[in-house]
Amino acid sequence: MSSATAPQPTLDERPVTSLRGVGPALAATLAKLGLHTVQDLLFHLPLRYEDRTRVVPIGSLRHGDRAVIEGEVQLSEVAFRGRRVLLCRLADGSGYITLRFFHFSGAQQAALSRGTRLRCFGEARPGPAGLEIVHPEYRRVIAGVTPPADESLTPVYPTTEGVQQGRMRVLTDLALAQLADGGLRDWVAPDVLAAARMTSLEAALRYVHRPPPSADLELLNAGRHPAQRRLAFEELLAHQISLRLLREAADEDAAWPLPACSDLVARCLGELGFELTGAQQRAWAEIAADLERDRPMMRLVQGDVGSGKTVVAALAALRAVENGAQAAVMAPTELLAEQHARNFHGWLEPLGIRAGLLTGRHTGRARRALEQDLASGAIQVAIGTHALFQEGVEFARLGLVIVDEQHRFGVHQRVRLREKGLAEGRYPHQLVMTATPIPRTLAMTAYADLDVSVIDELPPGRTPVRTVVLPETRRVEIVQRIEAACQSGRQAYWVCPLIDESDSVRQQAAEETAETLAAALPGVRIGLVHGRMPGRRKDEVMTAFKQGSIDLLVATTVIEVGVDVPNASLMVIENAERMGLAQLHQLRGRVGRGSVESSCVLLYQSPLAPIARQRLAVLRDTNDGFEVARRDLELRGPGELLGTRQTGLMQLRVADLLRDSDLLPEVQQAAALMLRGPRSNMEALLRRWVGQGERFGKV
Ligand code: ADP
Ligand code: MG
Repeated sequence: MSSATAPQPTLDERPVTSLRGVGPALAATLAKLGLHTVQDLLFHLPLRYEDRTRVVPIGSLRHGDRAVIEGEVQLSEVAFRGRRVLLCRLADGSGYITLRFFHFSGAQQAALSRGTRLRCFGEARPGPAGLEIVHPEYRRVIAGVTPPADESLTPVYPTTEGVQQGRMRVLTDLALAQLADGGLRDWVAPDVLAAARMTSLEAALRYVHRPPPSADLELLNAGRHPAQRRLAFEELLAHQISLRLLREAADEDAAWPLPACSDLVARCLGELGFELTGAQQRAWAEIAADLERDRPMMRLVQGDVGSGKTVVAALAALRAVENGAQAAVMAPTELLAEQHARNFHGWLEPLGIRAGLLTGRHTGRARRALEQDLASGAIQVAIGTHALFQEGVEFARLGLVIVDEQHRFGVHQRVRLREKGLAEGRYPHQLVMTATPIPRTLAMTAYADLDVSVIDELPPGRTPVRTVVLPETRRVEIVQRIEAACQSGRQAYWVCPLIDESDSVRQQAAEETAETLAAALPGVRIGLVHGRMPGRRKDEVMTAFKQGSIDLLVATTVIEVGVDVPNASLMVIENAERMGLAQLHQLRGRVGRGSVESSCVLLYQSPLAPIARQRLAVLRDTNDGFEVARRDLELRGPGELLGTRQTGLMQLRVADLLRDSDLLPEVQQAAALMLRGPRSNMEALLRRWVGQGERFGKV
């Protein structure tokens, strides 16, 4: 290491323009990749690796291999296959392969003439006459002067227009050269690294950018090499610390304690007409204990669809009301907000409590009236969409915020809600409810700022939904089944993923489907509900379905969450192969709410890819949301499951929650250790890994 006289700027302070050959134009292009500093370049990791360190016998190539080969051109000809194509046959004694060029100059053609020795790199694929490589990289081999093979595996970087692989390699070479002067600190404490048996940051970075020829290519390409895991570990650690800091900060905040102080909860329970399940009672006890404290509750309730989360939320709302505070219930869609409003009205009105609904649909005078009642405290329990937390909406004294279907909201929204509720130096308690059960270690990572209650029991008397997976060609049969069900007084859903065909001609339009079904089933009363209908109309249809004056409800996925019609016992879902497992499970949760045996038919368009078949089979085989989530995770990775794409809940650069899930227990331990250490190190670690927009925890 050099003994610097003046303090050198650290690598995160050195702009890319400090590197040789990087001017403003290239810097602007690099900025598109999020690369601003030398440190950014070092954390810009290869997508995959190629082995160009050795020459492979042509005869040993298999379909899909990307390899370096060397041989002599035996044949070179221009063929006409609708267009001009240059075909060269390259042989090395072990076998031959065809090189295919669609674009070539006369000079190239001359250079690739018979007898020339070539070294090529490319992907071997099956062609009309055995294996071939389309547009290989190639160079002439001059007799006696064999060009040296590469010294390390070749990294392939994520690039963008204007930056080529070659340039990216030169840039990372320059960045790696700066590693030696101590400009990149290892912020993870040595004892933490030792406990997790991890190498130094510098060694890991050198390895992932320039793996030696002996490196395990498969392991690297799977992202599971120890050097890669070292970086994933550090990234997950940074995120974990960020969420824990958020939680620590919240624990410093004050909240209004909401202890039991009347018989409201008992009276509500008495009126319900059912007993809480054991799991509901446990969750409620945990919530009630949190609410008594003068620190804001931050609790997540996980429970499968139909497990009865709403009642538990209502009890919490009553605690707020009996303490003279307001509660706000936020749902992700208008339809769900409306349904919650109906339920809450039903439970609260007999107790003399006023609930009010506020969504984006309330405008003008009606909205101003609602806003006034919220500000005066006349509305004690407010139910709505995120309209509840928009500009102009003020609460008299917000004691509790309930967020339903949490996976649609990210940590950003959660934090904003918290700030909105701040009054007189006190924060509201927060209860978030999700029907997307996720495995425990994952929950502890993604929701590290929350305590978790699990409702792992369904109300008694439910019969499990029988799920079948059928090709679309069996439609006629299914329509007959619907007819039979409706004639015997039961109700059914027919779910179409989209309302028009703009997305794809193959998608069945809900409107068209409703018409077709109406023609096929003259004796059945059919209703249609979709997301683009005016709210009032939607409401009417849903109410009619609930009251039983509609037998068959044709719907888009607007009914996905929360809609509750116990008499509906049959559901048909079209194009099921295109939907996520979590979403299908949610939809299926709309049936099986009464005591009649319910079924769910998943229709798919043939042919079904093997992975899609496996996925649909998961739903056929289990009704347990946790099991669905676990299998979903196995089959497709956690991004979709956690809704990270919509919410930016956790934007990971190197780590992959699924692939690296075995690191999570170590990450949690390491975070606990780091949190006891110096704050400055954590701040630096967060700056390195956690996007500005995702950082809330103040160090
Ligand atoms: P989710 O957890 O999916 O939000 P809900 O709260 O909508 O479930 O409850 C589903 C249905 O079950 C509702 O009709 C609700 O009234 C009913 N329910 C809730 N808890 C119980 C219980 N303990 N016993 C019987 N029915 C219940
Ligand atoms: Mg619900």
